[in-house]
Amino acid sequence: MTMHAPVRLVATLVVPSPDPVALRARLAEHVGRHASCVTTDSGDVVLSSELGRSRLALEAGALRITAESADPAGLAYIKMIMANHVLDFGEADVALHWTGVGAAGSPLPFFRQMTVTGAATFGRFRRLTLKGDDLGRFAESGLHVRLLLPAEGVRQRWPVTGDDGRPWWPDGNPPPARVYTLRRIDVAAGEVEIDMLLHVGHRDAPGAAFAERARPGDVVGMTGPGGGDLPAASDYLFLADETGLPAVARMLAEMPVGCRVRAILEVEGREDWQDLPSAAEADIVWLHRRDGARLETMVDAIGADDLQPDVVVWGGMEHAARRAIYRRAVDIWGLSRDRLRLASYWRRGQAGGDHHHDD
Ligand SMILES: Cc1cc2nc3c(=O)[nH]c(=O)nc-3n(C[C@H](O)[C@H](O)[C@H](O)COP(=O)(O)OP(=O)(O)OC[C@H]3O[C@@H](n4cnc5c(N)ncnc54)[C@H](O)[C@@H]3O)c2cc1C
Repeated sequence: MTMHAPVRLVATLVVPSPDPVALRARLAEHVGRHASCVTTDSGDVVLSSELGRSRLALEAGALRITAESADPAGLAYIKMIMANHVLDFGEADVALHWTGVGAAGSPLPFFRQMTVTGAATFGRFRRLTLKGDDLGRFAESGLHVRLLLPAEGVRQRWPVTGDDGRPWWPDGNPPPARVYTLRRIDVAAGEVEIDMLLHVGHRDAPGAAFAERARPGDVVGMTGPGGGDLPAASDYLFLADETGLPAVARMLAEMPVGCRVRAILEVEGREDWQDLPSAAEADIVWLHRRDGARLETMVDAIGADDLQPDVVVWGGMEHAARRAIYRRAVDIWGLSRDRLRLASYWRRGQAGGDHHHDD
């Protein structure tokens, strides 16, 4: 039997810089927040993550970035991330130009055009069914995607790979993008389902407004997937408002027999309840905001002794609620970061969601 080494896809970017040592240090610091970082005997910096690997090597008056991945989308993400950082640092006086795999003008491997095939209203949600090609990678890792939402009546032209590794939009500016969860994915059928909340003030909000007007035949862009893993445990505490509910539904649906989950879900009222089938032993608690019930108050009543020693706490909710719950989980429950997956899914008064955690 012949053994094949995994195919390595490689691309290279040479960034002219007056101070390549400083540029390498800044890249290592910023990208290293989401990747492991080692310095080789030859002095190169190598950053590795689930996306692949990049090597930062000094040249006369330049930094050479060599990106490598087994997966075209992983490589494309590394190229985009590196270019974004170099441009953010104000380092590039000249246009950036990657050579190697993923030439300018080629399709973006992490992008799909999706067509609405179904749109149903239940409670304050719209459930959109979207169809697209080649969805395998969207079932493999994170649960979340970024939807690129064309304005009403606009025939959107989609991006391709830019010379500098970032998406290049033929008509200039990209449309607004919002993050949603794939509540269900069927790769064979080329189909995903997304539950989108019609929240207060939704008519001026690109995500919710698109959800409300979506009809079969409409198209939307989708990139991803993204989002972290759920650490293995036998006991879980899930905490969510409506925006985290689709992720709770998917995690419960995919959870094996033998796990125990307590899910505390804050919604407006009874009309937002939904079936949450699971092979796990699941205890679901619905809190009605309309009656004054709140996630934070409920969580305040949970003491460290009420939790199993190996519990993993997962949450998706509004920024302020997340912050209060995070503090309790660390200060009162004494949970370490590796057993906490608490994310801010939106921020009151701020369009475009909130993806920063300021613990
Ligand atoms: C990883 C992740 C997964 C997510 N999954 C889902 C999902 O599956 N379904 C889903 O519906 N949402 C989900 N969200 C939340 C969603 O991305 C945000 O609510 C987003 O702001 C909605 O965009 P929009 O264009 O409708 O509103 P925006 O234009 O972003 O906001 C307009 C105004 O509406 C307010 N607003 C936004 N969201 C809400 C809300 N939920 N309730 C009340 N006011 C709000 C904002 O504060 C702002 O004032 C997820 C977020 C993340 C980070």
